[in-house]
Amino acid sequence: MDFSLSPEQNEIRELALKFARNEMLPRAQEYDEAGTFPREIFQKAWELGLINTCIPSAFGGSDFSSVDSVIISEALAYGCMGMNTSFMANDLALLPIVIGGSEAQKKTFLTPFTKEFRIASFCLTEPGNGSDAGGIRTQIKDGGDHWLLTGEKMWITNAGYADLFVVYGTIDPTLKHKGISALVVDPKSPGVELGKKEDKMGHRSSDTRAVRFNSVRVPKENMLGNPGDGWGIAMSTLDHSRPLVASSALGGAQRALDLSVQYSKERTQFGVPIAKHQAIQFMIAEMGMKVEAARLLIYKAAWLCDQGIRNTEIASYAKAFASDSCMQITTDAVQIYGGYGYSKEYPVEKLMRDAKLIQIYEGTSQIQRLVMARELLK
Ligand SMILES: Cc1cc2nc3c(=O)[nH]c(=O)nc-3n(C[C@H](O)[C@H](O)[C@H](O)COP(=O)(O)OP(=O)(O)OC[C@H]3O[C@@H](n4cnc5c(N)ncnc54)[C@H](O)[C@@H]3O)c2cc1C
Repeated sequence: MDFSLSPEQNEIRELALKFARNEMLPRAQEYDEAGTFPREIFQKAWELGLINTCIPSAFGGSDFSSVDSVIISEALAYGCMGMNTSFMANDLALLPIVIGGSEAQKKTFLTPFTKEFRIASFCLTEPGNGSDAGGIRTQIKDGGDHWLLTGEKMWITNAGYADLFVVYGTIDPTLKHKGISALVVDPKSPGVELGKKEDKMGHRSSDTRAVRFNSVRVPKENMLGNPGDGWGIAMSTLDHSRPLVASSALGGAQRALDLSVQYSKERTQFGVPIAKHQAIQFMIAEMGMKVEAARLLIYKAAWLCDQGIRNTEIASYAKAFASDSCMQITTDAVQIYGGYGYSKEYPVEKLMRDAKLIQIYEGTSQIQRLVMARELLK
């Protein structure tokens, strides 16, 4: 067993970390406060080859492995978990095409993302169906030479800026999972209606909206696989993307740990740096232990993906452990900063707000535990 990264992986990690430190960190606070979409930072990251890591080289991509992509995602999240949510949403939306698309669909839909900077959204969640995604009600009707798409999606990342949507709907809600199908939709199609930008607790620079589809005509050739294949495509997408999301939590947790180490050496109380107090040392020790354990779980979940081995159970361990740990670590970072931690002038309160979302999206921490239990008990 070899725990070291390859020279290429170290190189891409350094590149992504340098980008996070120079381009993201200095603007993270300001973009968060104003809720500004980081379009130009997103584009710069794309120009450096740090975005759309899932696109294979046959379609113009860089052929990054899953392990490569979690290394990049951790580094970018170190700069800002909120901006990284927008970046990762591209992969979340393009993965269903990589997984379930025909060669012609991959060429049509993936290649443009390698030629110019483009943004994508993954549209699964609905106002009435989040965790219970198998019960979605968005309708896909056969309109003869096209599909007719009608329904509403909720909490869609990047929706206001997207050039492409992957939308899940059902050909028949009574079929439950077996009726779910996936369509590639042009957001400029007549009948697509965007909701207002959501005013969120954290990840404020990422764009999140409801999207309504009012009898939207979608070309027949835009369905991924066959009618009813959508659920399998979505679940396989999540197996690939959960390590990625977990690594975003890891990047935020690592930043909170680094800040806590630095601050605890600088801040003096009772005549000594607070790092000399055992209560502070124990919090920092817990942080280090959780960061390291989360990284190992994430690498294993990503490595299994690369080997073509089913990783559902480990991906859920990684997602739940990394996001729950990030919540604890960022909360403790605020504690270590004391009153200053509660102020927006210091970086840790943002980390704590950002951490919360990663326990919720792409399957809540409770849903991850349901997946784990199902896998363990079957
Ligand atoms: C900022 C943001 C960005 C997002 N981006 C996207 C996106 O790009 N695309 C997309 O499709 N979706 C996106 N989502 C949606 C996200 O994936 C859902 O919010 C999430 O899956 C939870 O669904 P819900 O909000 O409807 O909560 P609910 O499903 O209503 O859950 C509410 C609570 O009940 C618990 N719960 C539910 N069922 C069970 C159960 N069986 N057992 C135990 N506990 C249970 C949950 O864990 C949670 O604590 C985003 C959400 C947010 C907030």
